[in-house]
Amino acid sequence: MAARSSKSYEKRELVKHLVASIPCAVCQHYHEPDNVRVVDHHHEMWIMAVKCDHCGTQGLVFAVIQEGEGPEIVNELTSQEWARFREMPQIDADDLLDVHELLRDFDGDCISLFEGEATLA
Ligand SMILES: [Zn+2]
Repeated sequence: MAARSSKSYEKRELVKHLVASIPCAVCQHYHEPDNVRVVDHHHEMWIMAVKCDHCGTQGLVFAVIQEGEGPEIVNELTSQEWARFREMPQIDADDLLDVHELLRDFDGDCISLFEGEATLA
C-alpha cells in the first residue's frame, strides 16, 4: 500500500514540475512547482491551477499523462485569454467544484471533452 501511495505522490510531483516548465503566457516567467496546485484528475487527464509568482496571472492547465508515453500539456489558452483570466476574480471553490463535476460526469475521451466543453466558465 505504501508503494502505491508513493507512486501517486511521485506522479503528482512529476505533473507539477511539468506544468512548472511552461512559462507564464503573460510575462514569460516560469512557474514555480510550489505554485502549481493539482485540482483534480480523472484517468490520464489532470487539471492544475497555476498562479504566476511574477505577475499574479492565474489559470487552469490541462495535461494528459499517459503511462509509457511522454506527457502532453494541453493548454489552449492564448495570451489574450490569459490576459482575460487575469482580470477575473480569483479561482474560488465554486470554480473547482465545476471542474470536479465536469470530470466526474465525463465519460468520453479528451478530445470530446474539449470539443464539448470549450469553456468552463
Ligand atoms: Zn506571469
